[in-house]
Amino acid sequence: MNPTQQPIAFARGDGIGPEIMEATLLILDAVKAPLAYREVEVGEAVYRCGHSAGIAPESWKALRETGVLLKAPITTPQGGGVKSLNVTLRKSLGLFANVRPVVAYHPFIDTRHPNMDVVIVRENEEDVYAGIEHRQTEDVVQCLKLISRPGSERLIRYAFEYARHCERHKVTCMTKDNIMKMTDGLFHRLFDEIGQEYPDIEKNHLIVDIGMARIADTPDLFDVVVLPNLYGDIVSDIVAEICGSVGLAPSANIGAHFSMFEAIHGSAPDIAGQQIANPSGLLLSAVTMLAHLGLNREAETVHNAWLKTIEDGQHTADLYTEARSKARLGTRAFAEAVIERLGETPARLPVQHYTGARMEIPDIAPPKPATKKLVGIDVFAAGRMAAEALAGQLQSACGDAVTLAMITNRGVKVWPDGLPETFCTDHWRCRFMATEGRSFGHADVADLLQRLAQANIDFIKTEHLYTFDGEPGYSMGQGQ
Ligand code: NAD
Repeated sequence: MNPTQQPIAFARGDGIGPEIMEATLLILDAVKAPLAYREVEVGEAVYRCGHSAGIAPESWKALRETGVLLKAPITTPQGGGVKSLNVTLRKSLGLFANVRPVVAYHPFIDTRHPNMDVVIVRENEEDVYAGIEHRQTEDVVQCLKLISRPGSERLIRYAFEYARHCERHKVTCMTKDNIMKMTDGLFHRLFDEIGQEYPDIEKNHLIVDIGMARIADTPDLFDVVVLPNLYGDIVSDIVAEICGSVGLAPSANIGAHFSMFEAIHGSAPDIAGQQIANPSGLLLSAVTMLAHLGLNREAETVHNAWLKTIEDGQHTADLYTEARSKARLGTRAFAEAVIERLGETPARLPVQHYTGARMEIPDIAPPKPATKKLVGIDVFAAGRMAAEALAGQLQSACGDAVTLAMITNRGVKVWPDGLPETFCTDHWRCRFMATEGRSFGHADVADLLQRLAQANIDFIKTEHLYTFDGEPGYSMGQGQ
């Protein structure tokens, strides 16, 4: 390998993947990007060989040695027994931020939002994507939503640093913390706290439902948007869809030691093998990769040539309209049109400049130690019974270290003083609080469970109730 070349791994993927990757590599070769390529195989064929994560064990070495992957989309096999390759890559390689810029190319590509220029910064590792799910009773399944302080802090700092780095002026946060006061509440609170360190940047928070409605209606009001994983996943597709074509949008998955660049669309099996796919999403992802590697000249040259190609009406089938296009090009022909324009700049679309140094991954504050005190326990019990009857059984079984404080069903208080209209499943949360003036620890929890077992209470899980520096680390019941 030439020592001046930067090593990168690339994967051709499935469906249209090999065609759009070939087109992208042609352009990278033509601009003489100093890259040393290592191909890794991911996707359908690897799944078929029995690797349930869609990647062979030996490929991890190549990925970790290069630190960068340019990835074409893959087809995720249907049915059980396989894991999503994307989720595996994101979580195994610590790719904490998913950055998706979505830009309108008006008047050259049809869009209802000509001024749209939004960047979604989505948390990539936590939230319900931890994939921790359980069936607990006949009626009820649960999914754990995990939001961590370091995970959220790093992502939010990254969003603010990104805004500064890219000379953007506003960062919007969206959460549902009017309902999820602890998980989304932490994300929102960190956004407010960290935001104070960026007085040069305008910031606001929207509840995610109205936030998504507004971004779908008037995306021009938004600049950088930072969100937890699930909301980020949904909003990324909304903005890509309303922009013009799903074939255009790039994405970067950023971690401290590794980064992955890919188009946001899938493997489009409906048009695979026909040389009609738009390679732009992958190409613009490669441009982001070049800038990430500090190859600013190459990033700028390719990006401007691509804009000029779009301006010149040289369009793939997904973008083609009689009114706006001059030629309907296949995948490879589109790449050749970009190559012909290397060195040119667009006349009307904004000329791109890549001058800055590579963006550093922000440090996060060391964890703040907190005094944690066990003050009670939620015991979840299964069964078909009336709340009053369950309360009576629990009270006679629980001993004097704890007091039964309330019972909820699907989060709604049903004892004491429940309403007869409340529908109840077979899944009860029974809250016991430590008796005032007594010490309460793990041995008391074990003793309580022992007593409940003897009373034939079918407990299915427990959650400890802690205070942290005196603040409750648990939510109240609805109606409590
Ligand atoms: P898709 O994005 O592949 O296709 C949706 C529609 O958009 C199709 O009509 C397709 O023809 C069109 N389209 C997509 N990319 C295009 C392009 N570059 N040029 C022109 N038209 C394009 O979504 P899907 O059909 O829901 O998923 C197909 C497969 O892709 C599934 O197996 C899915 O799991 C997988 N997938 C993979 C990734 C990834 O690897 N990152 C992401 C999303 C979906």
